[in-house]
Amino acid sequence: MSMKPYESPWMDDDLRMLREAVSRYVETEMLPKDARWRAQHHVDRETWRDVGAAGFLLMDVPAEYGGGGGDFRHEAVLYEELARRGISGFGQGVHSIAAHYVLNYGTEEQKHRWLPRMARGELIGAIAMTEPGAGSDLKGIRTRAVRDGDEYVVNGSKIFITNGSIATILMLVVRTDPGDRSRGLSILMVETEGLKGYRVGRVLDKMGMTAQDTSELYFEDVRVPADTLLGLVEGKGMHQLMGDLPYERLTIALGGVAAMEGAVAETAKYVRERKAFGHAIGEFQNTRFRLAEIVTITRVARTFVDKCIEQLVKGELDTETAAMAKWWVTDMQQQVMDECVQLHGGYGYMNEYLVCRMFADSRVQRIYGGTNEIMKELISRSV
Ligand SMILES: Cc1cc2nc3c(=O)[nH]c(=O)nc-3n(C[C@H](O)[C@H](O)[C@H](O)COP(=O)(O)OP(=O)(O)OC[C@H]3O[C@@H](n4cnc5c(N)ncnc54)[C@H](O)[C@@H]3O)c2cc1C
Repeated sequence: MSMKPYESPWMDDDLRMLREAVSRYVETEMLPKDARWRAQHHVDRETWRDVGAAGFLLMDVPAEYGGGGGDFRHEAVLYEELARRGISGFGQGVHSIAAHYVLNYGTEEQKHRWLPRMARGELIGAIAMTEPGAGSDLKGIRTRAVRDGDEYVVNGSKIFITNGSIATILMLVVRTDPGDRSRGLSILMVETEGLKGYRVGRVLDKMGMTAQDTSELYFEDVRVPADTLLGLVEGKGMHQLMGDLPYERLTIALGGVAAMEGAVAETAKYVRERKAFGHAIGEFQNTRFRLAEIVTITRVARTFVDKCIEQLVKGELDTETAAMAKWWVTDMQQQVMDECVQLHGGYGYMNEYLVCRMFADSRVQRIYGGTNEIMKELISRSV
């Protein structure tokens, strides 16, 4: 019996229709712009409203808050269609994650205030946690928010913020109590349009993901209304951050496996067409074995990620399992991308080739969203 094309067990007819619509949209409205986005180091702001108008933002947020009323499977379709084509600049991941913090921890009023505008792409979300002195060790966050009447006054800086230069709503992690490393953190949802004392620093020059405007952010006596405090409770920042990590880690693993699928398909096509020594390079035993290996790795990764998606939809994905998916899939992603570049020869080193861009883009997957070492720390505690 020959191998059937794989389809995720969580797909159904509705999701197949959604995939068709998303895939058509990505192919016609986003892919042709990717080279320009990479050159200018950010995605056009208008694209956000456009994707929102198409109904592809916050697909797993309830309709009463302006979302699509679906679940993570709907979101997954968008992640997959983007990652498969190597579109890594559109930061819908952090946008969705920021929205989920509002959904899970915001007051009813806060959900109505921010989620519908985020679903329409009128507000572009970012997560602002990392600081020059606090990455893996988030308890080291120093950006300070001091209550002053009905406002907080914020001073400090953030680094490596995805969507940083175009974001109009920040999920900003601040220190509200300097005396308590862990319980002294809080989250403010900060709208940045016209905000005095707020400044976007450099859009950072990166190895890959060049269409992504990863930026520095600065806060100098920035005054924000006290009712931007997520859930209107101080000191719960760390607790809130920990609660939503499986979601974030699964999005990274899913992007990783979809990119692997895209790269493997592209490479399989390439080796059939490229000739050397009078043969298609795909006829050499080495090429066939390499392809067999990366197809296998990709399928094993996909099967595990699909299981995680099903668990997340049921509300059963635990932190350790999500951490396993994050570290293993992203490690494998890099290995697979390396093989795909190798099988492309010199062309694989050229940016105009998909596998070249994917190779460079994949490196950071092992670093952000909690480094792979931190994932192993987490897993080891449960062994
Ligand atoms: C392209 C990009 C996009 C990003 N987007 C965002 C974003 O949108 N929002 C945001 O807030 N942050 C973002 N980040 C930041 C990212 O999450 C951090 O870079 C990451 O968490 C690591 O922190 P660090 O860079 O300070 O490294 P460090 O924490 O200094 O780590 C350096 C090395 O030490 C290791 N290490 C640290 N602690 C331990 C330990 N306990 N045990 C073993 N090893 C350890 C790490 O694994 C790593 O290998 C982004 C980063 C990049 C590069």
